[in-house]
Amino acid sequence: ERSKLRRLKTAKATTLDGVEISLQANIELPSDVPAALDGGAEGVGLFRTEFLFLDRGELPSEDEQFEAYRKVVKGMDGRPVTIRSFDLGADKDLNPEGTLGDRVKTNPALGLRAIRVSLAEPKMFQTQLRAILRASKYGKVRLLIPMLAHAHEIDATLAAVEQAKSSLRGDRIGFDASIEIGGMIEIPAAALAIGMFLRRLDFLSIGTNDLIQYTLAIDRTDEQVAPLYDPLHPAVLMLIAHTLHSGEKAGIPVSVCGELAGDPALTRLLLGMGLRSFSMHPAQILEVKSRVLKANIGELAPQVRRILRLEEPAKIREQLERLNGNVA
Ligand code: PEP
Ligand code: MG
Repeated sequence: ERSKLRRLKTAKATTLDGVEISLQANIELPSDVPAALDGGAEGVGLFRTEFLFLDRGELPSEDEQFEAYRKVVKGMDGRPVTIRSFDLGADKDLNPEGTLGDRVKTNPALGLRAIRVSLAEPKMFQTQLRAILRASKYGKVRLLIPMLAHAHEIDATLAAVEQAKSSLRGDRIGFDASIEIGGMIEIPAAALAIGMFLRRLDFLSIGTNDLIQYTLAIDRTDEQVAPLYDPLHPAVLMLIAHTLHSGEKAGIPVSVCGELAGDPALTRLLLGMGLRSFSMHPAQILEVKSRVLKANIGELAPQVRRILRLEEPAKIREQLERLNGNVA
């Protein structure tokens, strides 16, 4: 079985009815690049840079970050690399001394986290943006911003990128001036008010791990409520479907980089919902690709539309099992 999957490594992820699907890798450190390539990833869809803080108490310098980003870009050898700015705070228990300190308060999931930290720590943000821009000279780099909820956060981020660009110009350091900037859709407000994201950004990536948490008010780290953390809750599916449709109408690419994207039992559902770009743990790529190769989107789409009208996760799950039928 494993060796059958191995043979899919170089195959294109195309459905039976000829739709090309992009399968990319989520990585946490430059040392994950070989696994991404081994899984046949077409690129890095999510580089969780906050893991550069692992096992250290201080901020990595601009040069250290640059080296880490460049290593990934060069390792991916021309394939696109989506570098997410730090998602510090909350469950990412990596808070370096002196940046956040005790500012992460009573409810970290709703507190100072991700882009909120970056905008509150402009020096830290500039250091990271300069390092990412410098790495963009060595391949196709995209910048991804986590936990956006407000239009003004996007505007402040775009201004910070412009500032980093002009400081690099001042230092006569090269970078890709047309680097694409995208946003994570992982707060329900962002999915609902999607227009202000589509108008400001080059691409979107749905972070279902947090989207589920915030939609259902279930702490993703609390085992006591884990059974209620249900990706098939109709509200979650509605928000994903709305984001996909809105992106398609606006001509803005949308991918999913939450754990959902790597679950082979959900591949057909997501394809039928209109998803064309998946980013996942490298170990999942070949399994998901095998599902893509057996899928016919023209047949799936109307079946999935019917599933999305159901109201209970249990019913949705039952129909999903039928949809997956004998292809499992
Ligand atoms: C997500 O929230 O789905 C996501 C991909 O980001 P993270 O798991 O790093 O919060
Ligand atoms: Mg997230």
